[in-house]
Amino acid sequence: MEKIKERYDVLIAGTGVAGLACALHLPSDRRVLMLTKAAADESDSFLAQGGICVLRSPDDYQKYFEDTMRAGHYENDPAAVELMIRSSPAMIEELVGYGVRFARDESGMFRYTREGGHSVPRILFHGDVTGKEITSHLLAAVRALPNVQIAEGYELLDVIAADNVCFGGVVRENESGDVFPVYAAYSLLATGGVGGLWENSTNYRHLTGDALGIALKNGVRVEHIDYVQIHPTAFYSERHGRRFLISESVRGEGAVLLDKNGSRFCNELLPRDIVTSSIRLQMQKDGTEHVWLDMRPLGERTVKEHFPTIYRHCLDEGYDVLKDPVPVVPAQHYFMGGVKVDADGRTSMRRLYAAGETACNGVHGKNRLASNSLLESLIWAERAAADMCVRGFDEERSAPRPDLAAYAGYAEIKENYAKAIREEAEREAYCD
Ligand SMILES: Cc1cc2nc3c(=O)[nH]c(=O)nc-3n(C[C@H](O)[C@H](O)[C@H](O)COP(=O)(O)OP(=O)(O)OC[C@H]3O[C@@H](n4cnc5c(N)ncnc54)[C@H](O)[C@@H]3O)c2cc1C
Repeated sequence: MEKIKERYDVLIAGTGVAGLACALHLPSDRRVLMLTKAAADESDSFLAQGGICVLRSPDDYQKYFEDTMRAGHYENDPAAVELMIRSSPAMIEELVGYGVRFARDESGMFRYTREGGHSVPRILFHGDVTGKEITSHLLAAVRALPNVQIAEGYELLDVIAADNVCFGGVVRENESGDVFPVYAAYSLLATGGVGGLWENSTNYRHLTGDALGIALKNGVRVEHIDYVQIHPTAFYSERHGRRFLISESVRGEGAVLLDKNGSRFCNELLPRDIVTSSIRLQMQKDGTEHVWLDMRPLGERTVKEHFPTIYRHCLDEGYDVLKDPVPVVPAQHYFMGGVKVDADGRTSMRRLYAAGETACNGVHGKNRLASNSLLESLIWAERAAADMCVRGFDEERSAPRPDLAAYAGYAEIKENYAKAIREEAEREAYCD
């Protein structure tokens, strides 16, 4: 790997859709460093199954807006929701331009699927691996850029800041434990969600809310740290580790939830938080560790064509979804809160941006509408890049040198970040 230099124009932490979309929209004469704790393709963006929402036609605007607001318990920022919806057709066009293939019918028109909380089908998909289809194309496009360097196995440990201005980050090479400064005119936090802090989560284990810990330590404004989404249907397993998701779109296509006696007990197409509550209540009543998801109503063709990965995973676990229901249980899935940003991804610290799941731009309110997250991550990341370009890449003054000795105790730093996140979540939940 090319050696990491001391100075770049832009430092991006995270190689999910948010980090990649930002890198793709920076000028080709600007030097960009992208860090990722793990391999570049180990991000939640690769795991997204269901799809990505789009405004199908101007007629759907009101309904799409209302569905997003209702799912978010009307705590969403209406201007942010409008911005996302209005930007969605252009974003999809752009993705298609990168080579992303969404499902189409015989006449070549997009096919749309549906998930909980959506009043009409408006989700574009690629089988049950939409995230992999989108993110692998973006990653390939970034890898082709000579001005962007991707450093795998490197972690952003802190920002370099003085007087509420960000000058870059303190970076750790995970293998050697070496810690060093990287200076940049702008930095973007795109480190994803918080699932790694939870025992049961559909997220990659290395996603531990690092940007939030860094923000809290440096007095950068955060919002709604207690707004965590639990997905109703992760595959139930007694094993530890990441939980396998069974996409909501299987319910959108007709799968039903059953109690221990094989009876339905809720409307499967209500927003996620409501379905999750119904499942928990049912498990309590039945004294069980899970409920059942019956995919048989979908029929063999839909299961094998639209959900091949889910079909195979369940088979590997000993369940043939064409013949039997599978055990499912709610698990931590998504984080609505985050580092507070404006419409251009700017945080409360100058020259520091945030995008993707780690940021809170107001789109999701208290509960995310399914398949809105890839979309908003992409849109805000691109807006952040555009804002950096408008402001220019000149540096205001010389950067302070961080005291690297202060970063010797890695485990302790991470523990402090996790503790600060939990305490802030508790404080906010108490104040709500
Ligand atoms: C199983 C699953 C299914 C989903 N399905 C859908 C769906 O169908 N539709 C939808 O819209 N959304 C879906 N989501 C949510 C969506 O995938 C995420 O919200 C979105 O991909 C977040 O993108 P991101 O770029 O913010 O973060 P991620 O894609 O998670 O990327 C985070 C990156 O940050 C890096 N990182 C973390 N900490 C550090 C650090 N300290 N230093 C350096 N790098 C760091 C990671 O290594 C990674 O590269 C799903 C999520 C999961 C888990």
